[in-house]
Amino acid sequence: TVDVGMIRFEKGRIYTYIGEVVVSVNPYRAMNIYGRDTIEQYKGRELYERPPHLFAIADAAYKAMKRRNKDTCIVISGESGAGKTEASKYIMQYIAAITNPGQRAEVERVKNMLLKSNCVLEAFGNAKTNRNDNSSRFGKYMDINFDFKGDPIGGHINNYLLEKSRVIFQQEGERSFHSFYQVCSSIDDGGDFKAVADAMKVIGFTADELQTVYKVLATILHLGNLTFGVDGDTTLIENSKVVAVIGDLLATKEENVEKALLYRTVATGRDVIDKQHTAQEASYGRDALAKAMYERMFCWIVGRINDVIEVKNYDAKVHGKNTVIGVLDIYGFEIFQNNSFEQFCINYCNEKLQQLFIQLVLRQEQEEYQREGIPWKHIDFFNNQIIVDLVELQHKGIFSVLDEACMNVGKVTDKVFLQGLNSKYSVVGFIDKNKDTLFQDFKRLLYNSSNPVLKVMWPEGKLKITEVTKRPLTAATLFKNSMIALVENLACKEPYYVRCIKPNDVKSPLLFEHERCRHQVEYLGLLENVRVRRAGFANRQEYPRFLQRYKMISEFTWPNHDLPSEKEAVKKLLQGCGFEQDVAYGKTKVFIRTPRTLFCLEEQRTEM
Ligand code: ATP
Ligand code: MG
Repeated sequence: TVDVGMIRFEKGRIYTYIGEVVVSVNPYRAMNIYGRDTIEQYKGRELYERPPHLFAIADAAYKAMKRRNKDTCIVISGESGAGKTEASKYIMQYIAAITNPGQRAEVERVKNMLLKSNCVLEAFGNAKTNRNDNSSRFGKYMDINFDFKGDPIGGHINNYLLEKSRVIFQQEGERSFHSFYQVCSSIDDGGDFKAVADAMKVIGFTADELQTVYKVLATILHLGNLTFGVDGDTTLIENSKVVAVIGDLLATKEENVEKALLYRTVATGRDVIDKQHTAQEASYGRDALAKAMYERMFCWIVGRINDVIEVKNYDAKVHGKNTVIGVLDIYGFEIFQNNSFEQFCINYCNEKLQQLFIQLVLRQEQEEYQREGIPWKHIDFFNNQIIVDLVELQHKGIFSVLDEACMNVGKVTDKVFLQGLNSKYSVVGFIDKNKDTLFQDFKRLLYNSSNPVLKVMWPEGKLKITEVTKRPLTAATLFKNSMIALVENLACKEPYYVRCIKPNDVKSPLLFEHERCRHQVEYLGLLENVRVRRAGFANRQEYPRFLQRYKMISEFTWPNHDLPSEKEAVKKLLQGCGFEQDVAYGKTKVFIRTPRTLFCLEEQRTEM
C-alpha cells in the first residue's frame, strides 16, 4: 500500500481510493487540478468514472444528499500539516461551483459568506507551528444547508476547543494566532489584514465590531507587558501606564482595571471583601484574562458568522426538505516533545473519530455481510474502544479522575493526580487548564464596559458576587460533551472520508518518507480498510431498488416478471447478463463485487 502510495505521489497523483475513502498525500506544491475544467469533469459523475479526486467524494456526498435526500458528512482526518484544511476548502469550493445554476442572488450571497468565513476563522484560529505554517488551532464542523433544488441556503459552524494557551505561550519557533501579527502589520501579514477586514465587512461585521476586535487584540498585547511587584504587604503593578491604555481600550476606568488585576472579591458568609492577590496570583489572573478574552472573542466571531449564515424562516412545506452536508476539519493527532492538556484533548478527539470510522466503515461492513448471510472471513482490526473508555468512562475514566482532582481545591496537585492515574503521562498544568479559572472580577469588569460589543461577550459578568454559586463545568467535561455530541451528529449522517497523509516533515514536494507514511497508514487503520474492501463488495442494493433501476435491461424482468420473488428476479436478470460470477445474494440485498459490473449495468440501462 505504501509503495503504491509513493509511486502515485511521485507521479503527482495525490489521491487514491480505498473503497469510497479518499486517501490524499499532501503534495506541498501548487497542483493544477482544482480549476473550472476539472470541476466540470467530476460534476455529476459516478465515483469510479474519473481518476480519484476530492471532487469525486464531494460530488458523491452531494448526489446522496440531492438524489436520496440524505444528510451526509465529509470527515477529513490526518495529522497536523497533512492537508485537511486545504481539502475542506476545495470541497467547499467544489460545492459552491456546481450549485445554483439559476444564479439566484440569495444563494450566491450565502455561498460567498460560507467561503469568506474560512478566511476570517483562519486569521483568528490558525497559527504558525513547527509542523504547519497555517495550523488550525481549533476544531471546525460546518453544516451547509440545501433546499430542495440542491442549492446552498445557509450553514452553521461549530467550533471546538481553541488552543487559547497559545495567546500567552508559544514553543520555540512558533507564533501566536495570525490575527496578532495582522494588526501589527508585520512584513508578511499586512496584506492579510486587509483581506480579513474585507471578509469581515462582507459577512456583515459593523465598523464598531471590527474596532472592538482590534481593541481586544491590542488589550491582550498590552496585558503581555504588565508585570507585578511587591512593596511590603502590597502587590502593585510595575508599569502602571499600561493600565491606563488598557482602560482606554476596554472603555472602562483605569482604576477598575487596576482593581480587577490586583484584587478579587470574595463572599464570606454575608460579607463581601476585597482580597489582595499575591504577585503570582496577579500574574496568573492576567494570563487567564488574556486567554479568556481571546477565546470569548473567537467564539463571538463564530457566533456572528452563524447569525448571518444560519437558515431562517425555512418552511419545509414551501421549500421541500432541508438537507445538510457537514464538513469536519478538526486537529489531527499530535505528539510533541512535551504534551499537555491540549494534546490530550486533541488526541482523545481523534480516538473518538477513529472509533466512529471503525464503527461505520469496518464493523458495519462486516456486520452487514453477517446479517445478510454472505460467506465472510472475519478480518481482525484493532478496536480502540478501550482507549476511548479509558478517557471518558464515568467515574473511572481519566477525565472523571481529573475532574475529581479539580474539585478538591488545594488538596490535590498535578502530582497527586498523576499518582492517582498511575501512568507516565506528563500532567503538568492539567488541573489548572481543566479548571480554567477566570476570576469573577474580570467578568464583571468587561461586562461593565461602556463598549456594547465587548459587553455582550461577557453576559455572566452581570451576576453579583453573592449570586455566583455554581461551579462551572471543567474544560475537559465541556470538551468531552462536545465530542460526544459531534460523534452523535456524524453518526446519523451518511459519512464520506478523506484521510490525509503527510509525506515528510520538511514541507518538501519531493520527499516521500516511507517510514513516516507507513506509520500514518497504520494508525489511520487504512490497512484494515483495504483488507475489508478487498474481501468485500463494492456495491450493494436492496432487491426492489435494484430491480426498479435495472429491470428494463432484461427480457425476464421487463415489462413484468412472473418469478416468485424480487430476489429471484434479480438473480435471473444478472444470470442473463453474464454477471453471475461477480455477485452474491444476501437476504435482502444483492452484492456486487467490482464497480465495472455496475458500470455495465448503468450503460445498458442508458442504452435502452
Ligand atoms: P493542521 O492540523 O495543523 O491544521 P492541516 O491538515 O489542516 O494541518 P493544511 O493547513 O491543510 O494542513 O496544509 C498544510 C500546508 O500544506 C498548506 O498550507 C499547503 O502549503 C500545503 N498543502 C496542503 N494540501 C495541499 C494541496 N492539495 N495542494 C497544495 N498544497 C497543499
Ligand atoms: Mg488545518
